[in-house]
Amino acid sequence: MGVMAHIAGLVAAGVIPRPIPYADFVSSSTTKTFCSARSGMVFCKAEHAKLLDKGTFPGAIGSLQLQTMAAKAWSFKYAASDEFKAIMTQVVKNAKCLAEELTKYGFRIVSGGTDNHLLVADLRGKHITGKKFQEALDAVGITVNKNMIPFDPEKPGVTSGVRIGLTSVSQRGLKEPEIREIAAIMNKVAEAPDDEANLAACKAQAQALIARFPLYPAGSFDD
Ligand SMILES: *Cc1c(COP(=O)(O)O)cnc(C)c1O
Repeated sequence: MGVMAHIAGLVAAGVIPRPIPYADFVSSSTTKTFCSARSGMVFCKAEHAKLLDKGTFPGAIGSLQLQTMAAKAWSFKYAASDEFKAIMTQVVKNAKCLAEELTKYGFRIVSGGTDNHLLVADLRGKHITGKKFQEALDAVGITVNKNMIPFDPEKPGVTSGVRIGLTSVSQRGLKEPEIREIAAIMNKVAEAPDDEANLAACKAQAQALIARFPLYPAGSFDD
């Protein structure tokens, strides 16, 4: 049994190795790096197909959400496209870039770096907790999760780390130059999280950056 919920998009794009050949069953959510509707998928070896079908229906599921099935069907096709592969390739490049930049600013990256879409930064060298950093970054428009680090001396509600995912900024079109700017903003926030003027300046910088990457570029809805 393998779970690839976090990395399914990277797996689909061939950016990291696939668990499929090694596990009898592989399950995944379809959100996260797969970038689809909130749902899931399960793969299995042919010999288990009947068992899995029965367990799914009527075992686990009573009715169907056809709109979600349609969204997933679209996503499976999209996951095979060059565009999706390019985005997933950039997700890993962006994560590596952020890990390197934060290291330069004195953050310690747990496990020394990353090979996928996310990283966990140990904040103790910056003298700020995960809770405090998450809240200060929220105030400037950067979303991260506080996260325990191995042997964390802080409580689970406080933590000494944050976990940072690079999928959505990569989908949005951000590349290494923008990731370096985000790292600089994050460092400025960590250096003075209680300084309102500092947070206001960081927020303005973050807004100016993301304004260059509109969610729906001009002409998106033209025929
Ligand atoms: C994210 C995740 C889930 C939940 O998936 P959602 O689509 O967010 O509800 C379940 N299992 C694992 C291992 C996950 O990483």
